[in-house]
Amino acid sequence: MRLLDGKETSQQLRNEIAEEVEKFVAKDNRPPHLAAILVGNNGASVTYINAKIKACEEVGFASTLIRLSDTISQAELINEVKKLNADESIDGFIVQLPLPDQIREDKVIMAIDPKKDVDGFHPQNLGRMALNMHAFVPATPAGIVELLDRYNIETGGKHCVVLGRSHIVGLPMSILMSRNAYPGNSTVTICHSHTRNLPDIVRSADIIIAAVGRPKFVTGDMVKDGVVVVDVGITRVVDTSKKSGYRLVGDVDFDTVSPKAAFITPVPGGVGPMTIASLLKNTMIAARRRGV
Ligand code: NAP
Repeated sequence: MRLLDGKETSQQLRNEIAEEVEKFVAKDNRPPHLAAILVGNNGASVTYINAKIKACEEVGFASTLIRLSDTISQAELINEVKKLNADESIDGFIVQLPLPDQIREDKVIMAIDPKKDVDGFHPQNLGRMALNMHAFVPATPAGIVELLDRYNIETGGKHCVVLGRSHIVGLPMSILMSRNAYPGNSTVTICHSHTRNLPDIVRSADIIIAAVGRPKFVTGDMVKDGVVVVDVGITRVVDTSKKSGYRLVGDVDFDTVSPKAAFITPVPGGVGPMTIASLLKNTMIAARRRGV
């Protein structure tokens, strides 16, 4: 078994981006600038946003965090989005999800200028991605593809089982793995809560991408020898032995699955760090397209 080390790989990617920023700024360009909107005080969202802002600083990007009350209306939030669309000093921005119940996420995402949509959630980006055109690919799937690529994982002709069909992970992941590209060219099965015989399907997988948000959902008896496993899941589970009071648990039972796997991502230290690095990569791309 070999670890697909997202921490180390994402550091390489960040170093490459930092070098690119230096060259970009040396040509009299202002540094790439990422803005993030955070609505409310959801603990996990605050942690993710802080990690993204810190990552920006480390590679030499400018960053702006806009914090808004969780009582904000949909119209007010969309107004904030429109301001960022019009602000020429900002190359790309994200609206951290989830949003409070009074706001429809799809309405907010539709208001984002696709050219600044570095999270790749706008239907225009998703559609372009599906058609193999230039697009912002959502950061988590983009990070997974980057990880598979950097470890030279063979994907062509393989059976890839994607667990979960969310708009931000499972759905784009299934499209990427079935594209005529590398990584890609896999035969993809996408599973969700209505799937019958899920363990049998998972057992036939050469590559498993698990994004269901259920701790230790995939167990050793559900996988075949030599499988490649990408664990996207992050669930906070109460753990009084930790200072924070919780620990992060993936969708894959690492202890029983890893002995059978050829490659597997750890949680934490797998997909999570790749997601942040991919967001930086998308922002770098947005900055390069400035004025185009
Ligand atoms: P989500 O929107 O809740 O989607 C979960 C998907 O799993 C849905 O498609 C759901 O099916 C399916 N599912 C749930 N229970 C199932 C079951 N018992 N059997 C089969 N399918 C089941 O979640 P998400 O946003 O995609 O996130 C998934 C996990 O990845 C979460 O733990 C999240 O925290 C994590 N995540 C990690 C990163 C990272 O950077 N590492 C980024 C994003 C998300 P239905 O569609 O039928 O409801």
